[in-house]
Amino acid sequence: MAFRNVFVYPRYPENLERLYSLAYNLWSTWNYEAIRLFYRVDASLFQKVKHNPVKLLMSLSQERIDELAHDDGFLFELERVWENYQEYMSHTEAGEAGKADGLTAGDVIAYFSMEFGLHECIPIYGGGLGILAGDFLKAASDMALPIIGVGLIYRFGYFTQRVNLDGLQEELFLEFDNHLIPVHEVRDAQGEAAYIDMTLGGEPLKVKLWEIQVGRTRLILLDTDIEDNPADFRDITRELYVADREKRLQQEVVLGIGGVMALERLDIHPTIYHINEGHSALLAIARLKQLTRDRKLSLSEAKALIRASTVFTTHTPVTAGNESFKMPLVKQYLESEAEALGLSFEELAEYGLFGENEEVFWLPAVAIRFATHVNGVSKLHGEVSRQMWAELFPGLQTREIPISHVTNGVHRSWLSQPFTELLNRHVGPTYIYCAKSRGLSDKVTHIPDEEIWEAHRKNKQNLVTFVRRKLAVDLAAKGFIQRRIENLTRLLNPEYMTVVYARRFAKYKRATLILRDKERLAKILTNSSKPVQLLFAGKAHPADKAGKEMIREVIHFARDYRLEDRVIFLEDYDVDIARHLAWGADVWLNTPIRPNEASGTSGMKAAINGVLNLSVLDGWWPEAYDGENGWAITAGQFYEQSELQEVAEANQIYDLLEAVITEMYYDRSEVGIPTQWVEMMRRSIATACSGFNMNRVLAEYTRKYYIPAKQQVHSLSANDFEPLRKAMQGQGALLNSWDKVTIRDLSTTADRKDRVCQGEKVEVHCMVDFHGAPADAFGVELYLSQNNIDEFTVIPMTGGEMQGHSRSYACSFDIVEHGLLTMNVRLRPADPILRDSHPELIKWAQ
Ligand SMILES: *Cc1c(COP(=O)(O)O)cnc(C)c1O
Repeated sequence: MAFRNVFVYPRYPENLERLYSLAYNLWSTWNYEAIRLFYRVDASLFQKVKHNPVKLLMSLSQERIDELAHDDGFLFELERVWENYQEYMSHTEAGEAGKADGLTAGDVIAYFSMEFGLHECIPIYGGGLGILAGDFLKAASDMALPIIGVGLIYRFGYFTQRVNLDGLQEELFLEFDNHLIPVHEVRDAQGEAAYIDMTLGGEPLKVKLWEIQVGRTRLILLDTDIEDNPADFRDITRELYVADREKRLQQEVVLGIGGVMALERLDIHPTIYHINEGHSALLAIARLKQLTRDRKLSLSEAKALIRASTVFTTHTPVTAGNESFKMPLVKQYLESEAEALGLSFEELAEYGLFGENEEVFWLPAVAIRFATHVNGVSKLHGEVSRQMWAELFPGLQTREIPISHVTNGVHRSWLSQPFTELLNRHVGPTYIYCAKSRGLSDKVTHIPDEEIWEAHRKNKQNLVTFVRRKLAVDLAAKGFIQRRIENLTRLLNPEYMTVVYARRFAKYKRATLILRDKERLAKILTNSSKPVQLLFAGKAHPADKAGKEMIREVIHFARDYRLEDRVIFLEDYDVDIARHLAWGADVWLNTPIRPNEASGTSGMKAAINGVLNLSVLDGWWPEAYDGENGWAITAGQFYEQSELQEVAEANQIYDLLEAVITEMYYDRSEVGIPTQWVEMMRRSIATACSGFNMNRVLAEYTRKYYIPAKQQVHSLSANDFEPLRKAMQGQGALLNSWDKVTIRDLSTTADRKDRVCQGEKVEVHCMVDFHGAPADAFGVELYLSQNNIDEFTVIPMTGGEMQGHSRSYACSFDIVEHGLLTMNVRLRPADPILRDSHPELIKWAQ
């Protein structure tokens, strides 16, 4: 028997239909007036459905619907929210960052990510990477940038975390119904539900397309869980970060290759593809196929075009943490792709090679080979990434490896309501677009102490209420009787200084560093005049034993030291919990092993709300920390050995808490305000709002990558790709003669002097032997760097007359600084297109 399933929606009266439209656009999840409107519909139900506006409307009784339809006050408020929404959706002036963008609506940027963290009711995210991607789309909407997201929709999302009475994490897989969240099926122009037909390892696979409206930005999600597919294919989009490697590779083929096909199916033709972390790197393979088939480009032409139009953002500063697969598995899924390109599998596999082991295929290596624009997510992470991937750029000095950085930021929706109101009033609502120069700090300086402290107190009270309510629900689910629950939910004190540690429980993040000396910590927590309470939250990956052990250690510490009233672990860390914690904490603790935290964003969410960071100088923090906007844990940097490092860092945390942080927190004015603390809050807000907001991030991507990429693509593709084809015609001759060409007789005027001083001019000469190679195809340049810092200069050298097979080259420069000067001469392709497409073609003078 073949049953047909049709989902039936409730009928809403006409004057409430707008409520529906609002519910289906995530704008309503970050606009405080819209949120208030949904609370007004039914506050306790709204809470129960995890602030999911769609589920709220689906669950409402007919009686309540009728009531609302006749409630003039409600309809008035609905009208006002609707007007705001219309205004938002149509505004074109997106602040300074947006105005300068130089991108038109036609320059679509496809942003591919394995996870998107948009709202607690859409559990298709696991942690910071997803939150970043979600914030990215929200800010793109604010700024009216032509970005479109591409991802997967998972039937079970990421797992739901429960922690049993012994402190052991248990994973629940709760199925969520796509019909009950703000996502809808994609229909094409003809009104047909959109599917794509692809092959996976040679087998046919049908993929359904869904869409989420993130303000003005679209997010397209791929789904394999449809009846036409065999069971083991339906499973592909079952869960995020599935441990099974084959399933994971299947997901990444669907995301990368299917994603490109999905855009094509929807008649969307991006100018730029942005690979957010290595998972989606296979989109490059799909594009090779597309460009060779539709545009009749050769493989090398297609590759050069893809490089010019691809941005790759890496997020993982440890090689092993990057996505990789064993070659035989990859062969199973990519051999047919190779064939379609006229390549052997081995030739295709070379794109993913990295390191010694040729039996491993690295997705980020594919991404780097197919992207001219590569970046890390903080300054420090950029440096680490250049070192980590240096092997892919043989011949280049580490400092000139074209991997730069764009430090992450957070979307304004992480700003709590009290601080949103405060900043709107004192700074003006444009602070969300601000750059450092806009005088934000000055304006924040003028906000009175009382108002800042009052906003913070509201957030803190809100957190305490939230935790108590959540604990009551969690404990009831564990079978606790009401009396015990009542006792346990009187925990926490809104007057105590509150330290929060909330993030994934991964080993390098060291959640339990602060538990290193339990006696000492217990003393700090129970100090009678300066008490401290400690909140933890975070999931460990189901396969991560060490991560789970850390959760147990936290829970046992609270129990063993009878500190259950002030050391609390909150189950099932998600966006909702993250929000309440980042709003209501006093101190945000972060203790990763440096430099393993690529950026970190939860500290930014805290900082914009005046919560003070106490953090290892890792990720974003070295760029933000100025000595007066939080605290730095630095002691670890002096030790090589991790044991000593940990002791030193833990001791520094205790010292800071005892002697500085609690002192300052409890040092109150006559009216009960910790004046010095509030001053630090101010600085924290100013630093984070101006430097670490998502609009700044998008403006930077636009300026550094999107606009240059767009220009490159346009110039390469003029006249049916004439410049591209021409450059690539020269490629063969260049490659054939590359080995023959040599540099000799390098000399500089500095060589002949005893003493070279600042301000002098230096002349550099050399000879190049071409041995019949086409001399004009080669560029000769001087590489120059001083004092071993990150800067360097490249000066093109001018060629003289050909003398037989050789030609002399020369250039000169003025010495600006004193100190060690390093220089050498090298050869590269003269054609800028070839140079961009072959960063490995570089030959130094011996
Ligand atoms: C912000 C956020 C993160 C990222 O936090 P980090 O500081 O980068 O570890 C992870 N999970 C959730 C739910 C978040 O909101």
